[in-house]
Amino acid sequence: MVTLRSYVGGRWVEGQGGKQALYNPATEEPIAEAGTAGVDFGAALAHARDVGGPALREMTFAQRGELLRAMYKVLHAHREALITPSLENAGTTRSDSKFDVDGAWATLAAYADLGTKLGAVRTLADGEGIQLGRSARWFGQHVLQPREGVAVHINAFNFPAWGFAEKAAVALLAGVPIITKPATATALPSFRIMELLVEASILPPGAVSFIAGSTGDLLKHLGEQDVLAFTGSHATAVELRSMPNLLARSVRVNIEADSLNAAVLAPGVERGSPTWDAFIADVVREMTQKTGQKCTAFRRIFVPASMVAEVNGELAERLSTIVVGNPAEEGVKMGPLATASQLRDVRAGIARLRAEAAPVFGGDGAVKAVGAPEGKGFFVGPVLLECTDPDNATAVHSHEVFGPVATVVPYDDSVRSAARLVARGGGMLETSVYGDDRTWLAEAVRGIGPWVGRLFIGSAKVAGQTMSPGTVLPQLVHGGPGRAGGGEELGGERGLSLYLQRTALQGDKAILDHALKGE
Ligand code: NAP
Repeated sequence: MVTLRSYVGGRWVEGQGGKQALYNPATEEPIAEAGTAGVDFGAALAHARDVGGPALREMTFAQRGELLRAMYKVLHAHREALITPSLENAGTTRSDSKFDVDGAWATLAAYADLGTKLGAVRTLADGEGIQLGRSARWFGQHVLQPREGVAVHINAFNFPAWGFAEKAAVALLAGVPIITKPATATALPSFRIMELLVEASILPPGAVSFIAGSTGDLLKHLGEQDVLAFTGSHATAVELRSMPNLLARSVRVNIEADSLNAAVLAPGVERGSPTWDAFIADVVREMTQKTGQKCTAFRRIFVPASMVAEVNGELAERLSTIVVGNPAEEGVKMGPLATASQLRDVRAGIARLRAEAAPVFGGDGAVKAVGAPEGKGFFVGPVLLECTDPDNATAVHSHEVFGPVATVVPYDDSVRSAARLVARGGGMLETSVYGDDRTWLAEAVRGIGPWVGRLFIGSAKVAGQTMSPGTVLPQLVHGGPGRAGGGEELGGERGLSLYLQRTALQGDKAILDHALKGE
């Protein structure tokens, strides 16, 4: 049994007293434990703020980019060593574990390159300068500089490696130290990453701290220059967002929460066409990759009413080939859910959806898992439902079942209807539309776009060339309005702004130019 420790104040600290067990979700064997009782979070924050902050701010963007490059190389070199704990603790198949680990190092690498591009500067110009008076001397210029606080990163259980890296890359490049906290239930892969980074001796002192377990009173110590970036459920997001000190001290808070993502098949897409095939393949992958435990996975599939029978038939056929079982077994395509509570929630969620939608495939999700001890493991099979009365349905549009579950919803071919139904989700991280009619698609961009953080357009010319729509890319923003949390992460240089303070400078242009060069 491994005991996960926190890395705070520049050293490893083991929590005292009782600890939370971490399990192998395929066998239910306890494999590790973690806890933070006795950790001095005030001191941890002070160390990051007073030691890590100045060290990172002294570096230029290019130098911080080199730090990220060194981190990426460590993760890349230990790729295999990181896949194993992911498989054991998150229950992900080898392919799903790679998705997490590769996403982590690739994001660090992308931000390392951005650091090189931004160059040997410590202050960024935000847009062009503006002449404010009659003479060219009296000038205005917006600049961006690192905030002098700490970024606390709280992550969800589903991406223990990528979740860490996508937040760490952006904050560190911006020059802000981080305290990162994975979800406790699947913290083993994140702990291994932290061990590797510490062993490699590449981190400036205080730049990266790690919490294995609860955050204790950490968030109560956050102040004006700090940032809280949270990924997880809507319920926790609301609780954290409402903390009095975060409100009173205007602590920057970024939320990535649940999302009732959608796929929309446009009318006129012929069965067997490249666009149709891309749609079917993406729906199956989004439902089953990481056992549907992806914040960007499709939950609702909007299909022109006349095409529903064909779509259901083909999806059911594909889903019947998914072998569910212990990821350690050869041939298993989908592993278990990550925790016992996820299994409980997913079962309850399926029952709730079935009150509004009829089963098409998979019934209530009961499944015989390959290679798992009898009666053990948090397994659920893929479940496809159909809701024929979407206007009067509630749960279909509002209850995120965080598992391999999706509901097909017919609509009447018009963009207007599709957009209205998509919007019932209340704000999404991602929605995908599949079609080849440019007029219909342009209308869909206008109708659906305001409700989603990312709109993926699958069409014949790009079929077979795209990554799965659920893949979060460092170049594009990740986040969504309303229900999805209202936050934004990544998006290349855009992502840095969460950690930078924008200041409008007014003065003599020569002095402003000098300040921008950092001299
Ligand atoms: P969760 O229960 O909200 O937990 C998320 C994180 O918050 C965990 O690290 C958890 O720590 C921590 N946490 C919970 N209560 C806290 C509190 N009072 N103070 C400080 N930290 C607290 O969510 P989850 O079950 O792990 O994740 C699944 C959800 O995340 C899904 O709904 C999914 O849609 C969403 N998600 C969204 C995105 C996105 O990018 N938008 C990505 C992935 C997942 P412990 O584990 O120690 O309790």
